[in-house]
Amino acid sequence: MGLLSYLTGLTFPRGVHPPGLKDDTRELPIRRMAFAPRMVLPLDQHFGPAARALVAKNQEVVRGEPIAEAVDDDSVPIHSPVTGTVEGIELMPTARGPKAEAIILRAAPGDSQHVRWVKPQDLAKCSARELIEAIQQAGIVGQGGAAFPTHRKLRVPDKYPVDTLVINGCECEPYLTADHRIMLEYGQDVIAGIRLAMRAVRAEQAIIGVEDDKPEAIAALREHIKADDAISVVEVRSKYPQGSEKMLIKALLDREVPSGCFPYQIGVVVNNIGTMAQIGQLLPRGQGLIERVITVAGPGVEKPGNYIVPIGTPLRYLLESVGYPKDDPSRIILGGPMMGSTVAALDVPVTKSISGVIVLPEGSELDPAPRIQPCIRCGDCVDVCPVGLNPADLARLAAARQYEVMEEEYNLNDCFECGCCSFVCPSNIPLVQYFRIAKSLNRERMS
Ligand code: SF4
Ligand code: SF4
Repeated sequence: MGLLSYLTGLTFPRGVHPPGLKDDTRELPIRRMAFAPRMVLPLDQHFGPAARALVAKNQEVVRGEPIAEAVDDDSVPIHSPVTGTVEGIELMPTARGPKAEAIILRAAPGDSQHVRWVKPQDLAKCSARELIEAIQQAGIVGQGGAAFPTHRKLRVPDKYPVDTLVINGCECEPYLTADHRIMLEYGQDVIAGIRLAMRAVRAEQAIIGVEDDKPEAIAALREHIKADDAISVVEVRSKYPQGSEKMLIKALLDREVPSGCFPYQIGVVVNNIGTMAQIGQLLPRGQGLIERVITVAGPGVEKPGNYIVPIGTPLRYLLESVGYPKDDPSRIILGGPMMGSTVAALDVPVTKSISGVIVLPEGSELDPAPRIQPCIRCGDCVDVCPVGLNPADLARLAAARQYEVMEEEYNLNDCFECGCCSFVCPSNIPLVQYFRIAKSLNRERMS
């Protein structure tokens, strides 16, 4: 471990300190949200090929029932969040971009949130392969925003032995407190999920990294750990983006993931705390992922909090349930304000990987509606980039449309879109947007 880490608390080089803005929600217990009358379940809620529908128009379904199946090893099934009727399978708007095929469900009026379709399973004798299959059957994807199928992350090539499972309990984005509440309220599920994930990847130890501004969460998790668990909770410094994979590995293990490599290549698998809670809750019941905890916050929200929201709930229904300024222009962000994406339409549904819905009326703290100015070569963006890129040079190349040069000579693909550079830029240059566009154009060119 580096000397600096010992002196200043475990962390990584560079990064930023955005305001936390978590006080409105961090003390409030998680609440349930009612069923929307109409639910929209896109078939491609994850990285990898979209699921294939198993239901037809007018078919009746019960809450928890599989309604779409995985088409291959990179795909995950979808389960019905409600008891009701299939209204149709149509192209619908989604937060991921273009319209996508989705199953539309009409919820039976007055139905309870009791899950009717479960298939309890004895996990004690399951092999690593069987556990990974059970995780796929549960339709679990990374709960931190990436939507990467969890079973794929846990299925590590045999030639890379994994010694450590790292769990991200940092939640370093402003406003978001869902993971904080999960650690406080579902600690037992989190630890149960970690024990199963350790067996799946055959890790000797698990380390949960939690930022030092969450002492209650650290204490709550430790209560559920047994002496022989080989699971530890380690405080890391509160800093953004402390929760990103490579930064957390650096802080906890002082290991570097080389450019273009995966963490498993240095013996580590990283997962989000919410994903572990889902594994711990769903696997013993043989149940699919049909709801998740979401932070709904921001100065535009009348009843901010953390809500258990059924997957497929339209954003408009969610926002009407918590109250939002319908007539004032607001920026609505899915995820946190640093890495999340703005949505223009409220017709899009909540999907499996959405961790937050933040409503920022015009002019609020993290939405200053700034005017873009020319780069003054101050170098602030270079000073904060956690992976050591030169965002100013990358932006200059983006303006000249030299997207290939950005990738080949300036390591564009190492950018994980944390937004630190945009956050500090005094000229308000939307650097991270430029890099997202450049990466997507490069991907198009290669396909
Ligand atoms: S260049 Fe990418 S990784 Fe570096 S600070 Fe900007 S967004 Fe983050
Ligand atoms: S922070 Fe903004 S103004 Fe300063 S060098 Fe980077 S891009 Fe230019």
